[in-house]
Amino acid sequence: MEYYAREETWDRERIERTQVVRLKNTLAQALRSPFYKEHLEAAGIRPENVAGLGDLRRIPFTTKEHLRAAYPYGLVAVPRDELVRFHASSGTTGPPAVVCHTQDDLDTWADLMARCMYMVGIRKGDVFQNIAGYGLFTGGLGIHSGAERLGCLTIPAGTGNTRRQIKLLRDMKVKALHIIPSYALYLGKAVQEEGEDPRSLPPAIALVGAEPHTEEARGRIEDLLGLKAYNSYGLSEMNGPGVAFECTEQNGLHVWEDAYIAEIVNPESDEPVPDGELGELVMTTLSRRGMPVLRFRTRDLTRFLPGDCPCGRKHRRLDRIAGRVDDMFIVKGCNIYPMQVEQALMSFREVGENYLIILDNEDGMDRMRVQVEVRGEYFVEDMRALTSLQRRIASRLHDEILVTPKVELAQPNAIPRTEGKAKRVEDRRAGKA
Ligand code: ADP
Ligand code: ZN
Repeated sequence: MEYYAREETWDRERIERTQVVRLKNTLAQALRSPFYKEHLEAAGIRPENVAGLGDLRRIPFTTKEHLRAAYPYGLVAVPRDELVRFHASSGTTGPPAVVCHTQDDLDTWADLMARCMYMVGIRKGDVFQNIAGYGLFTGGLGIHSGAERLGCLTIPAGTGNTRRQIKLLRDMKVKALHIIPSYALYLGKAVQEEGEDPRSLPPAIALVGAEPHTEEARGRIEDLLGLKAYNSYGLSEMNGPGVAFECTEQNGLHVWEDAYIAEIVNPESDEPVPDGELGELVMTTLSRRGMPVLRFRTRDLTRFLPGDCPCGRKHRRLDRIAGRVDDMFIVKGCNIYPMQVEQALMSFREVGENYLIILDNEDGMDRMRVQVEVRGEYFVEDMRALTSLQRRIASRLHDEILVTPKVELAQPNAIPRTEGKAKRVEDRRAGKA
């Protein structure tokens, strides 16, 4: 097995021993920031109180609200002139949180990212196209720096202008690309609409992430574009991409535990859940000096996959993100996540690439509608076939979410797309808009 970093060969003992040392250092460093000085002192936590990973639980959580309240420099733990880069989350679920990095922080991040890319077969000299927003969004510069660190010819393609993206993929003989899943499906369809086969595009590897998506969606991306798609997980508060990444087994995302500590807790009781059980991911940075973050409540739901990965890496694996705690919505007393809906929809070959869940009120009753695009070749079918499809989708959704939504079939491209991360739910109920 070829590895990019020696840390990938570490056994559990070595990983955990390093985590303890780095956790103590991180605590000491965090205490230099105004926020953690107060936050940790209030809880009576000092680096010398930490003897093992078992002591982690005594450290209080850090939440998105803490980060927002400390805006902009409250968590900075170095003199201001050591900071060289500023990023912010996309603000998908509220005001964005900001993160400041030193040059060392950026170097570590680039190495982590390069490690991910090497793991799935990308090598020095490969042409890499980064189809991501190059602004405060970490998927732009974050992935870019990793690709350059690895020695790829890196194309900062940015987002939008689908025609030009396709032309670059072809002309530059791109081997690997980074793209968010909803846009990957759109791009493939755009190639088809030009009368070409998207499988004839040069890329063999896609890094897909930044937004929740199902195994079904990944399968569609791979079929449509004729490549291997690897799940990339990260969040701005933990740098961005390069936190957890799939290996070529495509069965769970290895968390780089030499750089982070991952925990999964029950979001209500805050207690750790056993391996294999779903809960909220909590993350701690271990190698960041500019802005260390301890026990951050990510609001992302996942589980640890039990057992060893055949690839040999001992870094634990996370299951693909099932959704965000904040994405859950309640209809007629049932708790529903958008990914449950996606999973049901994508299991129909007639269903196209885009969908939207609309919630509103009718006569004081919650109403759920699901708009789904139907693939062009099926949309031309007769009324009876479409009505039957509608009924089958509604019944499949009922099996999955215990509510029967009204299913509305739409033509290809009829549902508006959002720039950047897909918006799957429109809640028009009173007090929600
Ligand atoms: P925002 O929370 O505003 O979107 P970021 O741009 O930092 O902020 O994005 C991080 C979030 O994106 C994660 O917390 C997670 O919800 C989502 N995310 C990132 N990668 C993935 C992935 N591979 N699968 C599912 N969700 C992801
Ligand atoms: Zn593996």
